[in-house]
Amino acid sequence: MDFRSLLPLQAVDQRIMQLEHRKVQLPERASADAAARALQSARAETDRLLKRQGDITGEIDRLEVRGKELDAKKAKYEAQLKTVIAVREAEALQHEIAGVEGEHSSLDDAELLLLDESESLDKRIVESNAAIPLLESAAAEASAAFAAALASVDTEIAAANEERTRLAAGIDGETIALYDQVRSRMSSAAVAEIVKGACGGCRTSLSVKEQAETKNVADTSDARCPYCGCLLAV
Ligand SMILES: [Zn+2]
Repeated sequence: MDFRSLLPLQAVDQRIMQLEHRKVQLPERASADAAARALQSARAETDRLLKRQGDITGEIDRLEVRGKELDAKKAKYEAQLKTVIAVREAEALQHEIAGVEGEHSSLDDAELLLLDESESLDKRIVESNAAIPLLESAAAEASAAFAAALASVDTEIAAANEERTRLAAGIDGETIALYDQVRSRMSSAAVAEIVKGACGGCRTSLSVKEQAETKNVADTSDARCPYCGCLLAV
């Protein structure tokens, strides 16, 4: 086995991991998400305004129908009033007419308020609709920028993977298998050199005796840092 041959392989593996991480963290991803959300919420706002506008139209229609009913009622009472002779009956009819007029008046007030709201809704719907094409093109641009950034990282990942294949082809299978096994358990380096008397993986100082022992078992599965367990290339 040749542990030193693992060092460039590990460097490529680390680069692949960094690239995968970069892919997840791409700022273009956040921008594209934000632009898509802005578009979505503008569309939802327009829908909400249109729905309210529809509700108001329905309510105004209902008030108009009720107004017509009240007009008819009033006309009927007024016709009756012309024919009655008894004072008490006339008073009762006048009372009914006053009631109808009162209801009609509050109905007119409500209708005016709704017409006001409808007018301001019209303006807001126009504004909201006008903003959508801009938001659509911003979302499309952000999405294209994200796709391009993603493609660029993918190209780098593909190149790194090719390099890994090339490097791995030059290393014996037993060494690779040991490296893969150690790597799957380690969050830090799977293989390291001794740098200034310390393990290059965990930075713990190794005594002269520990270093000598490692050298004695160099390039065997026993050549490991006694602290982090990584393979030591000595
Ligand atoms: Zn170590």
